[in-house]
Amino acid sequence: AAATAAPQPDLLARREASFAAVQEHYYANPPRMERGWRHHMVSAEGRSYLDMVNNVTPLGHAHPRVEQAVARQLRRLNTNSRFHYAAVVEFTERLAALLPDPLDTVFLVNSGSEAVDLGIRLAIGATGRHDVVALREAYHGWTYASDAVSTSLQDNPNALATRPGWVHTVDSPNSYRGRHRGEQAAQYAPEAVRVINDLAASGRPAGAFLSESYYGNAGGVALPDGYLRQVYAAVRRHGGLAIADEIQVGYGRLGHWFWGFEQQQAVPDIVCVAKAMGNGHPLGAVITSRAVADRYRDQGYFFSSTGGSPVSSIAGLTVLDTLRDEDLQGNAVRTGGRLKTDLQALAARHPLIGAVHGSGLYLGLELVRDHTTLEPATEETAELCDRMLDLGVIVQPTGDHLNILKIKPPLCIDAPAVDHFTHTLDRALAELATPPRG
Ligand code: PMP
Repeated sequence: AAATAAPQPDLLARREASFAAVQEHYYANPPRMERGWRHHMVSAEGRSYLDMVNNVTPLGHAHPRVEQAVARQLRRLNTNSRFHYAAVVEFTERLAALLPDPLDTVFLVNSGSEAVDLGIRLAIGATGRHDVVALREAYHGWTYASDAVSTSLQDNPNALATRPGWVHTVDSPNSYRGRHRGEQAAQYAPEAVRVINDLAASGRPAGAFLSESYYGNAGGVALPDGYLRQVYAAVRRHGGLAIADEIQVGYGRLGHWFWGFEQQQAVPDIVCVAKAMGNGHPLGAVITSRAVADRYRDQGYFFSSTGGSPVSSIAGLTVLDTLRDEDLQGNAVRTGGRLKTDLQALAARHPLIGAVHGSGLYLGLELVRDHTTLEPATEETAELCDRMLDLGVIVQPTGDHLNILKIKPPLCIDAPAVDHFTHTLDRALAELATPPRG
């Protein structure tokens, strides 16, 4: 289906000429976005779209509290974090208080990639070991170390063939479409433990095991019960550390759990956070124990000019205040729960829907051509996204087969908006099954 948004050939052509080509854009003919408000985006033509994908703005677009706090701070002072000012102290205290013991020491950076890169370097510094074990079909960032552990074929089709020798991967523990399904998914943890044990036996014990603590690239699939506890124990037994990438799934989006690792009843040694932290303002953090942080002192350097600046710290504090005051994690439980129930009802009527994954407002709708073979409905997913745009809803594919609709809207989304999403999806799915004549 052709997108109805008015073409913007000049601006789009200029974007393609000047912006590195590897940075793709959504849609062949994307609407030109001018404004955002709560869970809506408004194009230059004045059309309003329901935004079902923006987990970078958990409070909603253009939240006035963030705008006012950041503008006030920009007028007062913005500098690097070597100066002494209150906001950075208050923000790091607040972050540390969100984590269980002994995670009490905070590094502030500007993005998720930086956070994962630093997390890996802290683990290498603290353990003196250079090998890292990570999950296949995961994305962790674009810097040298975070890209090295990213093996999602969606992002780089050569990912597995181009990893440096210090990266070791284990099977993606996907209980829906992986090698072990359903109850059998309990086998993933002992298999990963075997890889970790074999590395140690070969004289290269891993310095770290790194994974998302709720499986984001698969569309929000919970890791098998006990997975992180078993794998963390194995890596620690051989002197390594556990790193949790909470960049997508942390910060309340899962609803019942503020952090993904809570769902697994496991506590990592190093936690990487970003995305939601600044409601769009660049902000990232690594939180670890004082012992791990101190061991890095003679192993590497850390200073970030804008990480933890007064403006970044104020943005971070305001996001935390607003998440609390507007009970957005509670809304992820309530509105996300409503949405998941309604999507499950849709699944009963539309055979293209293979599964509804996820928790809170981190959901994935997996589309398959066959419920037994699970053949990914990749083309149908792309077509559905285009049709949803025609109908005024922004939703995008994820997963290595690009057959999962990622559903991760701003956490302020309300019941009428999720109902509108479900109705629109119902309509688009029906059209896909029986294309309109003409
Ligand atoms: N880890 C995960 C799980 C992510 O989803 C992302 C971003 N998509 C990153 C790391 C990297 O974050 P950033 O884009 O802020 O560098």
